[in-house]
Amino acid sequence: MTTPRHIVIVGGGTAGWMAANLFVRRWQADAVKVTLLESPTIGTIGVGEGSTPTLKRFFELIGVDDADWMPHCAATYKVGIRFDGWSPASGRASYRHPFFSQPDSFTTNDFLTNCRTRRLGLDVNTQPDDFFLNGQLARQHRAPLTPENFPFDVDYGYHFDALLLGRFLAELGTSRGVRHIATRVTDVHITDGTIDAVTTVDAGRIDGDFFVDCTGFAGLLIQKSLGVPFKSFKNNLFNDAAVALPGPANDELPCETVSVAMSAGWCWHIPLTSRFGNGYVYSSDFIDADAAETELRRLVGDLDGCFDARHLKMRVGQLDRHWDNNCLAVGLAQGFIEPLEATALLLVQVSVELFMDAWEQAGFAADGRKAFNATITDRFERVRDYIVAHYKLNTRSDSEYWVAARDNNALSDSLRHMFDVWYRREDLSVEIQRQQLKSHFDTRSWHCLLAGYGTFPALAENQPNRGDLFVDKGVENFLAGCALNFESHAATLRAQPQRGLASMA
Ligand code: FAD
Repeated sequence: MTTPRHIVIVGGGTAGWMAANLFVRRWQADAVKVTLLESPTIGTIGVGEGSTPTLKRFFELIGVDDADWMPHCAATYKVGIRFDGWSPASGRASYRHPFFSQPDSFTTNDFLTNCRTRRLGLDVNTQPDDFFLNGQLARQHRAPLTPENFPFDVDYGYHFDALLLGRFLAELGTSRGVRHIATRVTDVHITDGTIDAVTTVDAGRIDGDFFVDCTGFAGLLIQKSLGVPFKSFKNNLFNDAAVALPGPANDELPCETVSVAMSAGWCWHIPLTSRFGNGYVYSSDFIDADAAETELRRLVGDLDGCFDARHLKMRVGQLDRHWDNNCLAVGLAQGFIEPLEATALLLVQVSVELFMDAWEQAGFAADGRKAFNATITDRFERVRDYIVAHYKLNTRSDSEYWVAARDNNALSDSLRHMFDVWYRREDLSVEIQRQQLKSHFDTRSWHCLLAGYGTFPALAENQPNRGDLFVDKGVENFLAGCALNFESHAATLRAQPQRGLASMA
């Protein structure tokens, strides 16, 4: 197997440091040299505080336990997302999209069957959080850590302070051999479409045989220098700005993200051990920055302005090619889908891992690059479609924004087929197989979304008095019994040992 000899990463945000740690861990035996250049004057985006369960796999891959990093990053466990106020006209004030776990194998079919039954007009329970263990853990604020006497896998993600996580990964990466230079890149030297070197303010010219663009929305290497075009998703994802506002920590310490529908977007509430992270993701076509900040402050109870707000612009879409010649783009430089399902770091990880797989199989071969680009493009589009569905299906009528989102017909063929199959009362898993969709969001996630929104026909006139699997199979008792095995989230974090870099392999 060959690896690039010298990888130069430009950018020291979460994407740059995740990539650096993955490279040195997997390719350490091949003595690959990794240099990370990071501007001391251009900050990181500094938001991005929720993850999917893929981040757990990231830490496993780089040999880091929860106790090694979580206390250093004010991190908490995340068992899913609660959506408040996205579909009020259907009668659903709220629903959860939980991460799935092994005990759910006993209840998933009951949920899917009930959803089908409800699509046929019969009145059965289709509230997703009633059928999945993490729904129970979220309600009861319990940590998703499996005790020894309950030998089932429970999937979870995390919430964390993005700046602290960046610092932790930087320390870890440098301790494992990443050369870190704090300097700004001013020039990119290209011969026949291949990057030879970059020029920096303080460290002169730096040569490499492979370059990774992690410069965030700037896209300095791949977009500005190599000229790879960017494809915007603006026609079906309207949100292009955000305002972030911290708030005081809460002793109860929930273990889920809450996403609340607002007048022109939505607001996240993310529990950390040190504070709450709040933010309003909105469309600047429908609300201006000052009004968005006021709406957010009103929601979180900070109209007096105790906390400072940060305003951000978002560029939503993806590159035409994520890997171009000897340059790979990772993180915001490669693209961004708004953070409703916290998928950005998932895409970072998938991109770096699949890049390493592709390189190990075929090195620099054009076919490998082409296949990689097709796969990553598809991953972005499938995440996009799942997010678009949240807007298309909304049943709010309180502002132009929500009406425009519902009326928007710029949908991919793949998404149209998913909706058609649902409305025709057919099987979504068969459709997912037919389309060969490889996505983070499987048939369970689609059912949570569609049922959570109450996307069902009117109830039939005659209702049999039984046939609700939730009741007949005793799902509630089963999951409540399972949940008894889990400790409180707050107590678990308080008892977490404080380990650090010194304890790691
Ligand atoms: P950045 O953090 O912007 O880092 C860019 C780096 O490039 C910096 O170190 C900078 O110094 C460096 N740089 C730039 N130009 C130069 C230069 N000329 N020379 C040298 N260095 C340079 N993701 C999630 O997974 N979950 C979430 O919940 C989530 N929420 C988000 C909410 C919002 C509002 C936004 C905007 C994003 C969110 N994200 C989320 C995305 C997440 O923040 C990013 O994917 C993640 O932080 C990685 O960013 P990055 O490293 O690509 O870019």
